[in-house]
Amino acid sequence: MKILLHVCCGPCAIYPVNVLKELGVEFEGFFFNPNIHPFLEFERRVLALEEVAKHKRFNVIWAQEGYGLQSWILQVGKNLDSGKRCPICYDVRLERAAKEAKERGFSHFSTTLLYSKYQRHQLIKEIGQEKAEKFGIEFYYHDFREGWQAGIDESRAMGIYRQPYCGCVFSEAERYSKRMKRLEKRMNEKEGQGNESNV
Ligand code: SF4
Repeated sequence: MKILLHVCCGPCAIYPVNVLKELGVEFEGFFFNPNIHPFLEFERRVLALEEVAKHKRFNVIWAQEGYGLQSWILQVGKNLDSGKRCPICYDVRLERAAKEAKERGFSHFSTTLLYSKYQRHQLIKEIGQEKAEKFGIEFYYHDFREGWQAGIDESRAMGIYRQPYCGCVFSEAERYSKRMKRLEKRMNEKEGQGNESNV
């Protein structure tokens, strides 16, 4: 068995990498995450993964197309609500990972998205299996969420960057949804006052 492990970010890679190493499985990481916004955040996550890979001694294959933001936006299209956006986002990344795994002769592929408690675990599993079938390889499924706290503790001990939102600009805005609503309310009130004074 040889696994290409799609890696969404450094902190999420720690526990899955520990598991694969303990099992003695041959693997390499693969970074392809065009969903991350803005570019400086993308850069920080790349640097954090470099640190994790160095610390844990595993190789990372970096997607040749680099950032890929424009392509991701075109694929998400008008499906901006998270109910539709996230499945497309998983699909785009897992399709690319499965393709890379096939082309490079890996027998399996997997993803660190299976580590996060905040992602749609079952959906990721289903999409992974679908892509594996499409490309004629196997999807390595493991519920890495079992190591949620262990991964957090280790990433903190390493002092690497831990991102405060999923990745896309929408998830960044949703992180501040309450604050945004308060601000919008204030803006509307000011607009109302301005209109009154203009009468
Ligand atoms: S919230 Fe996360 S999974 Fe959903 S579209 Fe944004 S980056 Fe992708």
